Amino acid sequence: MTAHIIDGKAIAADLRARVAAEVARLKREHNLEPGLAVVLVGENPASAVYVRSKGKQTVEAGMRSFDHRLPESASEQDVLALVERLNADPAVHGILVQLPLPKQIDSQKVLNAIDPLKDVDGFHPVNAGRLATGLPALTPCTPLGCVMLAKTVHRSLEGMEAVVVGRSNIVGKPLIQLLLAENATVTVAHSKTRDLPAVVRRADLVFAAVGRPEMVRGDWIRKGATVIDVGINRIGGTDGKNRIVGDVAFEEAAQVAGAITPVPGGVGPMTIACLLVNTVRAACAINGLPKPGV
Ligand code: NAP
Repeated sequence: MTAHIIDGKAIAADLRARVAAEVARLKREHNLEPGLAVVLVGENPASAVYVRSKGKQTVEAGMRSFDHRLPESASEQDVLALVERLNADPAVHGILVQLPLPKQIDSQKVLNAIDPLKDVDGFHPVNAGRLATGLPALTPCTPLGCVMLAKTVHRSLEGMEAVVVGRSNIVGKPLIQLLLAENATVTVAHSKTRDLPAVVRRADLVFAAVGRPEMVRGDWIRKGATVIDVGINRIGGTDGKNRIVGDVAFEEAAQVAGAITPVPGGVGPMTIACLLVNTVRAACAINGLPKPGV
C-alpha cells in the first residue's frame, strides 16, 4: 500500500476540539451559548443512532442540545408547527430535521420551513442558492467535510482537476460549488456519464458519492491522486457478517492514489463535526458577530 491514509477520525476530533474552544470563547466574551435542536420523527433505528451521536457530540462541544421526538404517526402539520416553534426560539441557533421522514410528510416542505439562518444542514433552497452564487451560506455538512479533508493533503486546491461522481442535492451539487469556490477545475459525473473510468482518470482529486459499493476501481485512479470516498454501503462479508465499504475499491485504489480516505473512518466522522461548525457559525451570524475561527 502506497497511499497516505487520511485519518478522518483524528481530523474530526481535532475539528471538534476547535469548535469547543470557539464555544468557550463565545460564552466568555459574549455570554452566547450556541444551541442545536434535532428533530426525529418515528423509530428508524439508523436515524436514532445518528441523532444520539449528534446530541452527545453537541454537549461535548459545550453547546446546548435540544432533542425533539415525534411519533411515526405525526402529521406534516405537527412537524411544521414544531419547526415554527424552533425558528422562534432564541436559544436555538441550529435546526436539523433528521431524514428520511415518514411517508405522510413532504420532506421538502419541512426543509423549506426552517429559517435559513438556522438551517445547519444547508438544505434550504436559500442556502443552496447563496452557495451557488458565492454568497455566505450555511453549507451541507458532508461536502464541507470532504473539502476540509482534501485540504489536509493540499494547502490549496486552486487549478486542480476535481472529478465529483454523483450529483445529489445533499452531497454532489454542493460539493461542486465548494470546489469551485476553492478555484478547482470541476467535472461532475453521474449515471449517464459516458466512459466514467476515463473521466475519473483525469482527476487530481476524486470525490465518490454514488452509493454503489466499491464501484470506483483502482485502475480508474491517476497515480498520486487524492481520493475522498463519501460512500457508506453495507454488504455481506464471506463470514456471514455485514461490513461497511465505500464507493471506492479501497485496497486497489490505495496502491495508486497519493492519499485516500478509508471507510469507515474517513468522511463519516467529519459530517457531525461540520454540523457543530455550522451551529457555531449560525449562532454568530444570528447575533451579528464576526464569522468564528472554525
Ligand atoms: P444519491 O442521492 O442516491 O445520489 C447518487 C448519485 O450517484 C446520483 O447523482 C447518481 O446519478 C449517481 N450514480 C448512481 N449510479 C451511478 C453510476 N453507475 N455511475 C455514475 N454515477 C452514478 O446518493 P447520496 O445521498 O449523494 O449519497 C451517496 C453515497 O454517500 C451513499 O453511499 C451515502 O450513504 C453516502 N453518504 C455518506 C455521508 C457521510 O456522512 N459520510 C453523507 C451522505 C451520504 P443520477 O443523478 O444520474 O441518478
